[in-house]
Amino acid sequence: MENKKMGKCPCCEYYSIGFGEEGLWDICPVCFWENGGDGPNHMTLEEARKNFNQIGAIDKKALEFINPESKNKYKRKMLNKIKVFSFGFKYFSEKLPECNLRIDLRNKIQNPQDHLPKGVTGRDAIVIKTIFKSEQNKKYISSLMKRIQKKINETDLEVFIIAVGCRSGIHRSVVVADYISESLKKEGYEITTEHINLKIR
Ligand SMILES: [Zn+2]
Repeated sequence: MENKKMGKCPCCEYYSIGFGEEGLWDICPVCFWENGGDGPNHMTLEEARKNFNQIGAIDKKALEFINPESKNKYKRKMLNKIKVFSFGFKYFSEKLPECNLRIDLRNKIQNPQDHLPKGVTGRDAIVIKTIFKSEQNKKYISSLMKRIQKKINETDLEVFIIAVGCRSGIHRSVVVADYISESLKKEGYEITTEHINLKIR
């Protein structure tokens, strides 16, 4: 499966062309639509879509140029919504919250609590700063984002749930969950973020 970020073909809606600018003038290997408007295709996008649904390409002639394997090689991703939440392992000792990807920060990021004023949470700038001050943390979070991206690229789910846990669910996991949400939002996903243990405190 392609790991590179792909663009969505406006005709067949497979992720089969270059992303953004890179995909301009690309010819989709699934439906043969040229990503440059109606002109180069000698038909409207609407016509092309209709044809794709009926015969599997923008027109009969295009069928000759299409490798049928392309439909398996490229994906029509369903994923559009990602839920990110933070939680504290100490409150979930019996049954951990359900999710598609669980991230345990306890041994990955040092607990910043000892160096912080009382009562602050992962929503306070001082906590965010403390966590991102450490090169080791930054390195870990960047590798974590790669892991998340890979999971998201591979999933067939429509809604993907990421749970980020630390010991008490109010410092590390809040900062990292917010960071994940912000990063994924930039990718165009619809994101909801929830901090379970901040709420019930
Ligand atoms: Zn296409």
